Amino acid sequence: MDSMTAPSSVIAECPVCRNETLHQVLSGKVSGRDSKVLDSTVRCRSCGQVHHVVLKSEKPLTLPVIVSWLEESKRSSITLGPDEVLSVDDEIMCGELPVLVKSIESKVGARVSVCKARDISTIWAKRFDKVKILFSVNHHGRTYSEQMIVSPDEEFSVGDMISLGKRDVVIHSIRTVAKTTRTGSVAARDVVRVYANIVRRTSY
Ligand SMILES: [Zn+2]
Repeated sequence: MDSMTAPSSVIAECPVCRNETLHQVLSGKVSGRDSKVLDSTVRCRSCGQVHHVVLKSEKPLTLPVIVSWLEESKRSSITLGPDEVLSVDDEIMCGELPVLVKSIESKVGARVSVCKARDISTIWAKRFDKVKILFSVNHHGRTYSEQMIVSPDEEFSVGDMISLGKRDVVIHSIRTVAKTTRTGSVAARDVVRVYANIVRRTSY
């Protein structure tokens, strides 16, 4: 019901079936600007009953999003239909920027993990076109930290040799939220920390 013409079918409550079913729109008129109203004659696809319905489609909501990246955060917004549901860990587009939902505050001031757009007051998200990977590098029995900025889809594999700072290191294990793995690959989005050893350069 976003366009100005009546849709060919709608979900409506049937007076005979007594629940919400698909209805064919026989004739209808859309009016209203912000909240569109569809005034129409419909036929129930389950039982064939013809009846009259008035349906409303509410205008989309613009919700504030606080997008953080490293030490900074900035205000942005997204537009959602009032009944669209948002969850923590959803990847959404905030303008041109992919972001990951970290926290949702409802209108009653509670932090919730799932919420309908109409009940959301603020969304906290982090920029998700790139992620920061933390490394612990073992060098002569001591460990130091490094970091690297990559795309969330980039894969890290145990056994990979990579350049980190001024050194080459080889990955020996990768920690995710669930476990630490010593084989295989993990996408950057799932990495908590990468453990690596310095590779001594040999001259040829
Ligand atoms: Zn029916």
